[in-house]
Amino acid sequence: MDQSLKSPALSALDDAFHAQVEASRNAPPPALAARLDGLKRLRAMLSDNEKRLEQAISADFGHRCAVETTIAETLFLQAEIRHTLKVLPRWMAPRRIATALQFWPARNRLIPQPLGVVGIIAPWNYPLQLTLAPAIGALAAGNRVMIKPSELTPHFSALLKELIAANFDPAQLTVTGIDNGIAEAFAALPFDHLVFTGSTRVGRIVAEAAGRNLTPVTLELGGKSPTIVDVSADIDEAAERIAYAKLLNAGQTCIAPDYVFVPEPQRDAFAGKLHRQMLQMFGTNPANADYTSIISERHYARLEGLLRDAIARGAKTLSTTSPEDPAWKKLRKFPPTVVVGATPDMAIMQEEIFGPLLPIMTYRQSDEVIRHINAHDRPLALYWFGTDAAARDTVLARTVSGGVTINDCLLHFAQMNQPMGGVGASGIGHYHGEWGFNSFSKLKPVFYRSPFNRMKDLYPPYGASIARIEKLLRFLS
Ligand code: NAD
Repeated sequence: MDQSLKSPALSALDDAFHAQVEASRNAPPPALAARLDGLKRLRAMLSDNEKRLEQAISADFGHRCAVETTIAETLFLQAEIRHTLKVLPRWMAPRRIATALQFWPARNRLIPQPLGVVGIIAPWNYPLQLTLAPAIGALAAGNRVMIKPSELTPHFSALLKELIAANFDPAQLTVTGIDNGIAEAFAALPFDHLVFTGSTRVGRIVAEAAGRNLTPVTLELGGKSPTIVDVSADIDEAAERIAYAKLLNAGQTCIAPDYVFVPEPQRDAFAGKLHRQMLQMFGTNPANADYTSIISERHYARLEGLLRDAIARGAKTLSTTSPEDPAWKKLRKFPPTVVVGATPDMAIMQEEIFGPLLPIMTYRQSDEVIRHINAHDRPLALYWFGTDAAARDTVLARTVSGGVTINDCLLHFAQMNQPMGGVGASGIGHYHGEWGFNSFSKLKPVFYRSPFNRMKDLYPPYGASIARIEKLLRFLS
């Protein structure tokens, strides 16, 4: 595009990108000390501004439970930084790789190298964690990083931009505006790697845009995460843990249990227990500060639509009140609702719910559950409750998902040494811990030839000796 026709926001985006590309191509890769220093500055920025960040996120949500912001965002990031600081020297070191006998004496090394400029597109639901967790991995790997937060979190995005600008050279780390038109233009930049966290629908658009530049992507997408309550499960325990995981951030969590499969005879007992747990955790007062608001009126209306459709198609609900209750609606607090008698034709069973509605499906044979799951997109997460190891292992073997927690929900995500990432429609690639470092590095194989190796014996003209060498190679292969 002719530069003179570009809006100031698009020109600023281009300038920021080119400054990072220039730095990444012309300066040596940052040494360990510089990377540690960047991570420590990020850590200090987070702890010095914890309250401000928490308030900005709450302003964007209408209300965001402060404990949730602390646990799921700030402390999560602090733990990731602490872990990275400790093990980064080992991650950065060239890795020894075995050398086949015929090349002896020689050395193989796998050398991690920064890719260059990494772009990060983040959603609104955990805006701090999902902008900075990939940034920690990308900075640790020595990259330059550009972040584009969601347009639905304007208070947070403005604050993050201000804090990053005050603490980092924009050629190392920068936050772009949230202006109209930036999202598409951002995804179209020829990054060396692009991390997108968001919906599967937009993920497809971003993957297409990145594909035009052959930019490799990490896509952290969404979808419906099934929860299976086996006949061997303790249903009191399962109800408590599922209720917590579902209502964290009012259900606006990518790995929240989306729906539950319960043995048919236990359906009503389980639904009652779930509802009681929800009441015990969050009570009946919409102003309860522990309960988070829905991000926007549009999202609230979408959830109301899902519930209306389920009721019209015969579902029964367990809830304190209706989402139309003005006391709840004016705060955009959506009453936690158990949807009993969900069926596959209901919209609630067809799209990711992303809110505090929990449909219950029933089954007679566990095979029905596996068939249902395998007939749909690969889920981001899967949860299984029970004590029957054979039943558990059958589900593990016959379903493919981004991750699994057994006898609880969400917790596989919090394991620093495990990769985070979906599969199929729930995502491509991984990050967190060393998995992120590796994703954002070129792991470059380097072969160091030894002067004593007899490679020369292989060169033409091929005389009588080649037959002996061939024989040896056949023996070694
Ligand atoms: P979204 O897909 O609507 O938006 C995500 C980001 O993409 C935003 O920053 C938005 O501005 C940007 N965007 C929108 N259109 C774009 C375009 N054409 N080109 C480039 N960027 C564009 O998602 P959301 O509503 O913000 O977040 C909710 C979704 O994210 C849910 O589906 C949830 O499951 C998923 N999610 C996944 C994870 C994970 O780790 N897998 C984590 C959180 C959320």
